[in-house]
Amino acid sequence: MKKLLSLTLASCLMCASLPVAGAAADALTVDATWKVLVPEAPTVYETFAAEKLVDCLAEVFGTAPETVTAPEEPYIALGSAALTDVSAVAGNGYRIQTIDGNIHVNGTGVRGLQTAVYRFLEEFCGRRVYTEEITLLPKADAISVPADTDIVYEPFFEYADADGLSPCDVEYSMANGLTGGTYRQLPEEMGGTVNYLGGFCHTMGGLCETGDYAETHPEYLALHDGKRTTDQPCLTEPEVLRIATKNVLKLLEEGHDPAASVQIVSVTQNDNYNYCECERCRAFEEAHGGVQSATMLYFVNQIADAVKEAGYDNVAIDTFAYQYTRKAPTGIAPRDNVIVRLCTIECCFCHPLDDGTCQRNAELMKDLRDWSAICNRIYVWDYVNNYANTCIVFPDFGVLQRNIQVFYENGVRGVYEEGNYYIRNCDTEFGELRAYMIAKCLQDPYREMENEIDGFLSAYYGPAGETVKTILEMYLSHDPDSFGGHLGIGESPAASFYFTDREVSEMDAYWAAAKEAAAGSEEYLARVERSELSWRFWKGSEGKAEFSVLNPKRFYEKQKLFEDLQAFGVKQLSEGSYEDYLDCICVRYVPVNEWNMYEADESAARARAFFGKIYEKCLVPVLSAFGLFYKISQAVNRNRPEDTNQ
Ligand SMILES: [Zn+2]
Ligand SMILES: [Zn+2]
Repeated sequence: MKKLLSLTLASCLMCASLPVAGAAADALTVDATWKVLVPEAPTVYETFAAEKLVDCLAEVFGTAPETVTAPEEPYIALGSAALTDVSAVAGNGYRIQTIDGNIHVNGTGVRGLQTAVYRFLEEFCGRRVYTEEITLLPKADAISVPADTDIVYEPFFEYADADGLSPCDVEYSMANGLTGGTYRQLPEEMGGTVNYLGGFCHTMGGLCETGDYAETHPEYLALHDGKRTTDQPCLTEPEVLRIATKNVLKLLEEGHDPAASVQIVSVTQNDNYNYCECERCRAFEEAHGGVQSATMLYFVNQIADAVKEAGYDNVAIDTFAYQYTRKAPTGIAPRDNVIVRLCTIECCFCHPLDDGTCQRNAELMKDLRDWSAICNRIYVWDYVNNYANTCIVFPDFGVLQRNIQVFYENGVRGVYEEGNYYIRNCDTEFGELRAYMIAKCLQDPYREMENEIDGFLSAYYGPAGETVKTILEMYLSHDPDSFGGHLGIGESPAASFYFTDREVSEMDAYWAAAKEAAAGSEEYLARVERSELSWRFWKGSEGKAEFSVLNPKRFYEKQKLFEDLQAFGVKQLSEGSYEDYLDCICVRYVPVNEWNMYEADESAARARAFFGKIYEKCLVPVLSAFGLFYKISQAVNRNRPEDTNQ
């Protein structure tokens, strides 16, 4: 399972035949006089690849290189016009090679060649697609390609999907390797996407038609707690298997795509724990490790066999290792065309998954390794968001890359990073950065990320990029024990990260510096301010700095944050509370993270507002002495030596 990456071979034979002798042989100088060589009857993939290359080189050089169908040296040859041997390169991989002073680019599968062109542009032209709106492509008279270039790439994952704003964009997905079909549909010439046919998850009820047989055939239904329930089917009932198989084949008859690299049909448990406990199911499970995944796998294997027998070679049947099916069975293994999708919902995201000291993650790692021992097609459903307090920063940046490496090293072949899928209603932190990091790591988990992150920050925040990087590092600088030890996907602001008052002042100074640096550009400034909302939201939740109980202006600060959130289009504060915080009438009087707990017409909200007003208008003036003290302490903090701005 070893991957070759950026492998540069110093082949004597190649050097000997180069046209330029001596030290000059180190690099080829490619400019607008080079030709792009394509086959006479190109495929749609080759046409797309050639157009992409020519368009981008035209942007770099200011003149488009000519496309030819017969070799005119020097040239960049594409697809079947290239001499490079790709017979040993895995599906959807590619090879970029210099031979005799020309460049040869070819790929395998449905998107190898096209992604090779994107790689060429990234590697040798410095092209980056950071977001849907920001593409970097430096201009130059010529670009340099090492004369001994031989880049071989094979995809680390056959399926890569992520939530976010830019991940929905086709060009961004193509440049950054997102191939799943949930959020984007890449057209045929780009190689298409890996799609789930039918539902994406929890499809069992529909496939087994459990609801239809409640009266006529209760034995088709799960027997749970002594009662038949439509919540799940009985997975060892032959008739249920027949019905589900028929429905899967029907889906394929109607929607099979023979050109797809992989097409997936999900056969996944419904989202409840009411699995069948009938004697037959229990006996089967007892004989296979005593776990419910045994009957699930038995059921799914039969369907996978039927699908294979029907000739659907590029189709895989997907099932979950989730909640009660998370543990691997014994004595039964998934078929080659079965995908087992393991879910990290219970994990901790401030420790890497393979950090043995984190108990939550240790349990998942055991399950991952157990599955890995019997399954060569594990997919992972991973999480990269705080679903309860989405406005604050989810400080998982330190584990993103390592976790994706862990997946790869344990035989995982597909990854879905479930993030802030409602970001259009709640975009306050570092969503675009996280999406970019995820995409780049899925494309190559061992990529050098430091430069990628620096490049992104400078393109996205402009001159404020460096300061934003310091801010990000501040979030990751604390021992998890200072905020509860672990980081789940629904933590309170207090349990997500921790800052002393002194550090809060430091962070405030960094944010102020970032805004100052970005002040020359409306765009950069708006991005900094948007990300700063997450910091202000945390302070407002924790009563820090300007939201401190010692500051008489804190009511005004909350009101202002509330209005700024709305100005930035934030309609939602968490996964489940769509637009409800907009009704809150007590924004000035409750911690910010409690805004979505009150609705305007609730008596509790009215009471909060009533007493809050009395407090603000009558009591607070009495406490103004404290306010004065607060102002002095703030001033002292602000006038600390400039070293906080480093
Ligand atoms: Zn049963
Ligand atoms: Zn942990």
